[in-house]
Amino acid sequence: MAHRIHILSDQTINQIAAGEVIENPASVVKELFENAVDAGASHIAIEILGGGFQSIRISDNGSGMSDADALLCLKRYATSKIASAEDLMQLQTMGFRGEALASIAAISSVILTTSVQDGYGVQIQVKGGEVVSVQPSARAKGTTIEVHSLFYNVPARKKFQKTAIASSAEITRIASSLALAHPYIGIELIQQRKTIFSFSAAQKDASFLALLQKRSAELLGAHFESHMHTIHFQENGCIMHGLIGGPRITRYNRSGQHLYVNNRPVHCMPFTFAIRDGYGTRLDSTRHPIYVIHIEIDPSLIDVNVHPQKKEIRLREEERMKATMRTAVQRALQSLNHLVALEIDIPAAQTGSMPSEARVLSPTALYCAEKRTSSSDVYEKQTQFLLQQEIKVIGLFKHFLLIEASSLSPRLFGPLSSEGVIWIDLLAAEARILFERLMSTYGKQSSQSLLLPITFSCSNAEAERLLCSLNELNQLGMQLRSIGPTVFIIEAIPACLEEKEIANVLHAIASSLTDDSISNSDTRIKRCAQMICQKVRSCVKTFSLSEALHLVKELTNTCNALHCPQGKPTFYHQKTDAIERYFQS
Ligand code: ADP
Ligand code: MG
Repeated sequence: MAHRIHILSDQTINQIAAGEVIENPASVVKELFENAVDAGASHIAIEILGGGFQSIRISDNGSGMSDADALLCLKRYATSKIASAEDLMQLQTMGFRGEALASIAAISSVILTTSVQDGYGVQIQVKGGEVVSVQPSARAKGTTIEVHSLFYNVPARKKFQKTAIASSAEITRIASSLALAHPYIGIELIQQRKTIFSFSAAQKDASFLALLQKRSAELLGAHFESHMHTIHFQENGCIMHGLIGGPRITRYNRSGQHLYVNNRPVHCMPFTFAIRDGYGTRLDSTRHPIYVIHIEIDPSLIDVNVHPQKKEIRLREEERMKATMRTAVQRALQSLNHLVALEIDIPAAQTGSMPSEARVLSPTALYCAEKRTSSSDVYEKQTQFLLQQEIKVIGLFKHFLLIEASSLSPRLFGPLSSEGVIWIDLLAAEARILFERLMSTYGKQSSQSLLLPITFSCSNAEAERLLCSLNELNQLGMQLRSIGPTVFIIEAIPACLEEKEIANVLHAIASSLTDDSISNSDTRIKRCAQMICQKVRSCVKTFSLSEALHLVKELTNTCNALHCPQGKPTFYHQKTDAIERYFQS
């Protein structure tokens, strides 16, 4: 009987493998660029025609290859970067799988020109994985790889490709990310003969952050440049450095997030969450921060061999690394606040203008990081002068107070000035004040005992999350006890809540505790407190003028007066010229 099973031909194997490594023209650019980096190039040029479907040409001034290596590099599993599986533990190169060139060559026409010595070189032409010609070729030391007619022999793959225009955009995105990944390497991107960007190579002693700043200003826009803070943090042999955008420039998706581990662009959710956590309550829960962060770490602490395109990594000491990252971001944001604090003029006549009960807040470790300085007297002094002596009220509308901007210290809001008007959302202000009070009295929270305990039932998933947070809830004044797999008895609630609100608050807490946050006690405390405050904020309520003024005074004494605990703004500043422009337009 004839065999039904047979071994696939090398060409078919390569075409299948290409499906994993080469998703689209942008992945060809990434693979060839990283090969040039591994070859020690200091300058790499990328030239694209027709979104990369027509041609991709990448030239470098790296080590080049001998004639024999040039022929070998096109074979599958041919690599100069590792010799055994143990080498994966100490990986210093971008590539290591020996798959990219063979995969690309299997699904296109490739012309490889390379030279190890100026003037002498070799040119090899390959089509659909078969060598068509090998001939001597003059070239300066380095390598040029041209890829034509990508996917010409894999129509199924071609059908699922984007248009040339969309593919060009994707190439620009990947090339920009690579330019931020290797700030010392000169890089030039040319599409349809037009230069998209060009950065020259830098000396080894040039400042890493200065180079990154220059590139990100051009690639991520002036908006990022004017709101970025530098990160530089080192702990346990791990260096985290780069730039993070302030809470005012966020996005609805993660497209502004550039994370590099040992210069490799990666997705790593534990880091993504830790960075977000570092922003504390400055961010709206629906928004994502923008950043360019580089992590330099001992290669033995990460596993990069988990994704064919090496887009993902696994961390060996995840919790420790996440904590380091969180602290790095907290410090970066704190350093800006230091500046604000130190810049503030302290007019002697205003000493003691704040009600004393509003000033005395001793925050827990969790949100200390959001304070302007941890316990220095600069902070103590500063908080007294955020308000000018007199608040010039224009009016109260619903739960919004309208005041003249000159009522607040001109330096409180950095870019905001003291002219124009400011709207203050009193509900947001109340939520912020309450949040800080809950956090500062954590563990000493006064709660109101219920005459008749309330029974609360929920889903299995919710119960699981609440069970993990019983201690935190108790410390926040919510006395809760489990009496069945999905049923709890509530015996006391925080003084700021009403009995009828408690079930909604508990449901909200359970759904805000994601798998990632549940493992960290600080995050659990924060989520519980945020949800309690959220409830208070969502009330329909009016304020008297004296209540409103008291709130504003208390608000300016909080650690993060600009945002409610959910990261939504508490203030809205309208400059005079903006109002005038509106009426004249
Ligand atoms: P990998 O990068 O995983 O080793 P590739 O298929 O991308 O696999 O490349 C195979 C080999 O070809 C590399 O290990 C390297 O020795 C050589 N090579 C590829 N591109 C270049 C280049 N631009 N300059 C010098 N050598 C190169
Ligand atoms: Mg490679």
